[in-house]
Amino acid sequence: MSDYMFMLESHLSPEQNRVLAEVQAAAAEANVSVFLTGGAMRDVMGGFAVRDLDFTVEGNALKLARAVAKKSGAEITFTDERRKCAELLFPGRVTAEIAMARQERYAKPGAQPQVEPATIHEDLRRRDFTINAVALSLNRASRGLLIDPTNGLGDLERKELRAVHNYTLYDEPARILRLVRFRVRLGLTVEERTAQQYENVRAEGLERRILPRRLLEELREIADDPNPGEILRALEEEKLLPLFSPALAEGKLNLAGLAKLHKARQLIPYGAPFQVNNLPLLLSLMAEKLTAREKSELIAATGLGAAEVAAWRRLESLAGKLEHELKSPKLHRPFQVYEVLSKAPGEVVLLLLVRSNLRLVQDRIRNFFQKYLPAAVEVTDQEVVAKGGQPGTPKFVKIRNELIEARLNARPKRPAPEEGAAAPEAEADEQRPARSPDARQPKVSRA
Ligand code: ATP
Ligand code: MG
Repeated sequence: MSDYMFMLESHLSPEQNRVLAEVQAAAAEANVSVFLTGGAMRDVMGGFAVRDLDFTVEGNALKLARAVAKKSGAEITFTDERRKCAELLFPGRVTAEIAMARQERYAKPGAQPQVEPATIHEDLRRRDFTINAVALSLNRASRGLLIDPTNGLGDLERKELRAVHNYTLYDEPARILRLVRFRVRLGLTVEERTAQQYENVRAEGLERRILPRRLLEELREIADDPNPGEILRALEEEKLLPLFSPALAEGKLNLAGLAKLHKARQLIPYGAPFQVNNLPLLLSLMAEKLTAREKSELIAATGLGAAEVAAWRRLESLAGKLEHELKSPKLHRPFQVYEVLSKAPGEVVLLLLVRSNLRLVQDRIRNFFQKYLPAAVEVTDQEVVAKGGQPGTPKFVKIRNELIEARLNARPKRPAPEEGAAAPEAEADEQRPARSPDARQPKVSRA
């Protein structure tokens, strides 16, 4: 096995490795060449966590995506017929993109490029930054061969962000937003000629040609980033925030709320079944100080769709409802708190954790993340099967819940604190009936 294959396999989770094997097998069967590319390669080589797998195919990518989906039970969540790429969600919550190797030609800055099928080498040369332009062959004859025509590996080692060519930012000015995001997220310095290209693009005001669709794409990426506040602050410094909202750029960006979100996310146990729809969560927090009119401007600038706006509004009211439910003195057993919080959408739980001023609500959410969820994950499918549950049936879910309930409610009380050392209230467990909440404390604030 090549060093790179070894590095890759040891870096990915078991679920991601399974997807890697499935895509390789399907490509071999379809007799097309497939490569691991983009952010997945960058993150493997840089030692960062791999969030999604980017595959590039020399050949019919959509057909391969359909074959992979059929065989593995993955769901195709998005397809782009023009660029010939598909996004897939696999069992085990692994996400991947399967895209056709392509060339893109830009008639003028910010225009829709003309797309043509290409070889992997040509595909790598149309990408944005060298660190994103590395491929690893997953094909029988050359498996583990690294293809790095622009020395992205060297740039990654030097921690430099370098544009692939002299027109990268001109061709698609939205790439300046990506530049800021990668610089901040990965702690890179922008290479000198790339910095000059950036300055030139800004001097010509080409950022004004960025389409709303691109701004929305970027907002989604920022929402999915571990620390969106840091990226938005950098955009503010670069005077790029007015593209999204002039009001945000005038000091209304809620950085304190975003910093709390960053902390709150760190409480989610690694690998726990906790799904978050990040876009409405980001919108709720970043735009908290905007007036209704300013929010409408943000919606228009990014072309947010009706469904996305509705999800944003719904999130606000769901957080209020969850707070009400969670402060109830009736919820005094750990399993009751677990049930309420595991049924709530992840973004509602996180928004409430960031916003609520009620100590009891804060403690219950923290206990959920730090104690109940990790304990619930320990209940294995084998245990459920041993009790007579058939996977995929309602009875399976019922037995699983009973096992979780028994486990949570039987949690031993923590040992009595040593003399003189009072147990901190913030870590209070739910073994005793909860105090009734202080009615004077403010409710979750609404934007
Ligand atoms: P992330 O970790 O945020 O997903 P990523 O680099 O994987 O980062 P994606 O948007 O998933 O970003 O894109 C995958 C790859 O496609 C990138 O690494 C890059 O090679 C290429 N790419 C994406 N968007 C652009 C763009 N606007 N211009 C050029 N290449 C792009
Ligand atoms: Mg990616």
